[in-house]
Amino acid sequence: MNAIRDNWASAAQTRSAMLIGGDWVQAASGETFRCVDPYTETEWGEVPRAGAEDVDRAVRAAHNAFEGWSRTPPARRAALLRRFGELVEANVDRIAATQVRENGKLLAEMMGGTRSLAADCAFYGALGETVHGYTVQPSFPNHVAYTRREPIGVIAAITPWNSPITLLGWKLLPALAAGNTIVIKPSEVTPTSTLILGELIEQAGFPPGVVNIVTGFGRGAGDALVAHPLVDKIAFTGSTATGTAIAKVAAERHARVSLELGGKSPNIVFDDADLEAAVTGIEAGIFAATGQACNAGSRVLVQAGVYDHIAGQLAERARTIRAGDPLDPDTELGPLASRAQLDKVTAYFHVGRTEGFACLAGGERLDRPGFFVAPTVFDRVDNDSRLAREEIFGPVASLIRFETEEQAIAIANETAFGLASGVWTRDLGRAHRMIERIRAGVVWVNTYRMGGHAIPFGGMKASGIGREMGINALDQYTEVKSVWINTGETRG
Ligand code: NAD
Repeated sequence: MNAIRDNWASAAQTRSAMLIGGDWVQAASGETFRCVDPYTETEWGEVPRAGAEDVDRAVRAAHNAFEGWSRTPPARRAALLRRFGELVEANVDRIAATQVRENGKLLAEMMGGTRSLAADCAFYGALGETVHGYTVQPSFPNHVAYTRREPIGVIAAITPWNSPITLLGWKLLPALAAGNTIVIKPSEVTPTSTLILGELIEQAGFPPGVVNIVTGFGRGAGDALVAHPLVDKIAFTGSTATGTAIAKVAAERHARVSLELGGKSPNIVFDDADLEAAVTGIEAGIFAATGQACNAGSRVLVQAGVYDHIAGQLAERARTIRAGDPLDPDTELGPLASRAQLDKVTAYFHVGRTEGFACLAGGERLDRPGFFVAPTVFDRVDNDSRLAREEIFGPVASLIRFETEEQAIAIANETAFGLASGVWTRDLGRAHRMIERIRAGVVWVNTYRMGGHAIPFGGMKASGIGREMGINALDQYTEVKSVWINTGETRG
């Protein structure tokens, strides 16, 4: 831990640069901004604050690099991705620790996410080597018909702060494997970890301009990127409000979009469940990552017969979670990522109380430095309350009581969102009925928050458009072209 802190001390003095067209540059305006460590509430580092002029340079660099990169053999692209993966693996500690300092999440989670990115490089590289169309026997004589999959062009990847490297990897790797070039704008809360990836991209030997990184805010950099006429697709992860605004701008010029947005996911416990496993799953679903996960199980639906037991157990666990230094392996709860997030989550404590719900645990800021709040459990929440409808993005569980399976399905689906869900039951038939009827991109049965590159992730309804990961990940980064060839009439 001390070694990591020593490294941070030197990083705090460092002024970073952005990667544009193979050059490390400052913003044209010369403006910069600083990161804030949510554990100590102190400022550190300094990164350029990109504006429209910088974004324009980055997009043009990506546009100019596209012709060469799109025609680079897929095997060569895959080899570069594998090399990049090795470099990420060799730098896991540094990348993970930097994220911890940026967003306050536990080191173990940031290490896991960074290792996954390293491992995923080979997966996406191989997918890029197997991009295929199909041939059909056309209904007209003397013709051959087939499809090709071609890269889209310049991708704008706009990422949030909660898992900056993991969520970027889901975009960067398939985009590059398929032959696109990219401009990345990381969250203003977590810019430096992405800049480290830029260094490794350069070391791996990717041609200049294939990957560009601009650091800046949503207003000034993000919006300029979305509006740029040479951006062919926007791959966005973030809040539903921002995603909606981006999709409107993109629609004006028919740019492609994929959106990974917010959630208010139901984690549903039936009477017949393994109750101990269920409590552990609920806890992991809402308190892990200090609740700052898009797939957080923030609505905990519990059947009447076990409601009091589950409520009591969850409140007890909430009260005993160890909050502390996110670098310390014994810490179970880190701070929220920013002061803005702290203000938002504490405002919802007020909302819950004003709406008349009893707080079984937490409901307050922790009395210590850092942006810490107590893990919180609200009792007998109405599904149509603000507490149950709005994404809080903090460690706040809303317990909702139900009687029947039909009620559980209705409550689960009565939400604007449709990202994730959990079902706890020993009844196989019931599990299958729930899987079929819940409107969400993922259903976890007797587990929660499982994931990996071989299985897609993404949301229905207001939780997004499109899926990342899985064997179809490259569909998001390719266009289909149909080809007809007249083979000529055979004359006898
Ligand atoms: P946010 O929407 O505030 O910001 C996300 C990114 O968009 C940032 O890089 C920001 O600078 C940029 N941005 C903001 N306004 C913009 C604009 N007008 N034009 C272009 N870019 C703009 O989200 P956040 O607070 O960083 O992240 C938390 C949100 O992300 C939560 O809602 C969470 O559910 C969601 N999320 C979703 C997934 C998923 O896979 N579905 C994963 C993680 C996080």
